[in-house]
Amino acid sequence: MIKIVCPICNAEYLPSEIYYPKDFLGNPSQIYKTREGKIDFFTGQNMNLKETYVCDFCKHTMTVKAFVNFSVDTTQLPPSHITKFKTSSLTLDED
Ligand SMILES: [Zn+2]
Repeated sequence: MIKIVCPICNAEYLPSEIYYPKDFLGNPSQIYKTREGKIDFFTGQNMNLKETYVCDFCKHTMTVKAFVNFSVDTTQLPPSHITKFKTSSLTLDED
């Protein structure tokens, strides 16, 4: 469980109590990608990882920053996407 803790009174909050899901993930209106699938640019709102919240218990104003990482499971790729390492060695002539 990820908790956000008030630095003054140690009150605990879940991220959903402090962040607005739609603001947190961003709200792009149009996403333009290259032919290879790379994001070229987008319009609309980027992710909002910084939020201000007044503690319900001690009234301290907290600035909360999120550090987000995503990972994609690559353990079950189709065989055509698995790189095979060549075991034979390459010999070069000295001439
Ligand atoms: Zn507090």
